[in-house]
Amino acid sequence: MLSKKNIPENKFIYLDHGASTPTDVTVVEAMLPYFSEMYGNPSGVHQQARNSKQALNKARRDIAQALKCQTKEVIFTSGGTESDNMAVRGVAWAQRFAEKGNHIITSPIEHSAVSETIDYLCRHHGFEQTQVPVNQDAMVSVADVKSAIRHDTILIAIMTANNEVGTIQPMAEIGSIAKEHDIPFFSDSVQIMGAMDINLQEWEVDLLSFSAHKFYGAKGVGMLFMRAGTPYMPHSTGASHEEGRRPGTENIPYIVGMAKAVQLATEHFEDTVPRLIRLRDKLISGVLDNTPKSYLTGHAKHRLPNHASFIFHGCDATSLLIHLDRHGIGAASGSACATGMPEPSKVLLAMGIAPQHALGALRLTLGKSTTESDIDYVLETLPQIVQTVRDLV
Ligand code: PLP
Repeated sequence: MLSKKNIPENKFIYLDHGASTPTDVTVVEAMLPYFSEMYGNPSGVHQQARNSKQALNKARRDIAQALKCQTKEVIFTSGGTESDNMAVRGVAWAQRFAEKGNHIITSPIEHSAVSETIDYLCRHHGFEQTQVPVNQDAMVSVADVKSAIRHDTILIAIMTANNEVGTIQPMAEIGSIAKEHDIPFFSDSVQIMGAMDINLQEWEVDLLSFSAHKFYGAKGVGMLFMRAGTPYMPHSTGASHEEGRRPGTENIPYIVGMAKAVQLATEHFEDTVPRLIRLRDKLISGVLDNTPKSYLTGHAKHRLPNHASFIFHGCDATSLLIHLDRHGIGAASGSACATGMPEPSKVLLAMGIAPQHALGALRLTLGKSTTESDIDYVLETLPQIVQTVRDLV
């Protein structure tokens, strides 16, 4: 019989921070004045407009300082999906018009905002792609990236850390190969703010995408880092906001909130990451030790500090998520289930996991509010739920 004895009554243990995080109260406080007190359009000349412009400039400066890049290299967007689209389309079209070529190197484990965009360019606009394989840990091989380079390669798009299995790619090595061949390197970094020490002075990468709701900011705001000099054509046209690279009146409250969220992520990095790693490792070893036929997915060491992902043989992930929710645990699986017919995750398939096993995937992503007793409760509860779900089939 399952019990909830280790957690206070009605507590919900949220282990889905990879999907979204609660907006930090200090982020909300930072945003609030920019709705009804300071609401001017930053493109205007009067006092209200100037207040907004100052807030916009400060947010950009603070973010650039935290990430160690130039202010003009920070472009505000509506989130990760838009940033990914801008990076892929923007570079691909600029390179095509400069007659550099049509070939994109990518991986089979990209988020759909990247993979669908590349597929679209290939299907409808004559671009070509090479997907370098990943190994059983979801890691690309640097040698494969190198040998995929052609005379007409115009972009390398390989994500920094995978959202489903947490694996962190060899960014430095891929970056230096890209630089050596003068090919722009874009990496979807939506999962890494607060989890990795980002230093854009040192990182050899040309474009990175971010989304505020993954790091305690609000949903619907994000940014694209674009190194000065990167070939780029805007994906939409309009006025000259963001130096013409992303037209549209800037979302000042959300941008101010995102700058606050970046500040919190970088300030608390040193304390938060070791704590998350300790809790994550306790969770991983506890699950593997106490649940028969359970396997970690993703790299054991080179993985996001808050990320634990598994497959359970003979276990249907949808039922597992429903049972976990009933027991006060919010989790996610790797498989999409939009039509009620679960599809095995393309990430797990690319790692060589059999389709029937890929349907038993679970992702638990910790956050700054996760406690030791939350993990204890999950470790007490999860193995029994897995057994219950297995008995259903
Ligand atoms: N890229 C990755 C790796 C993600 O995990 C996500 C969101 O889950 C996105 C892109 C899309 O971000 P957004 O929700 O801001 O559109």
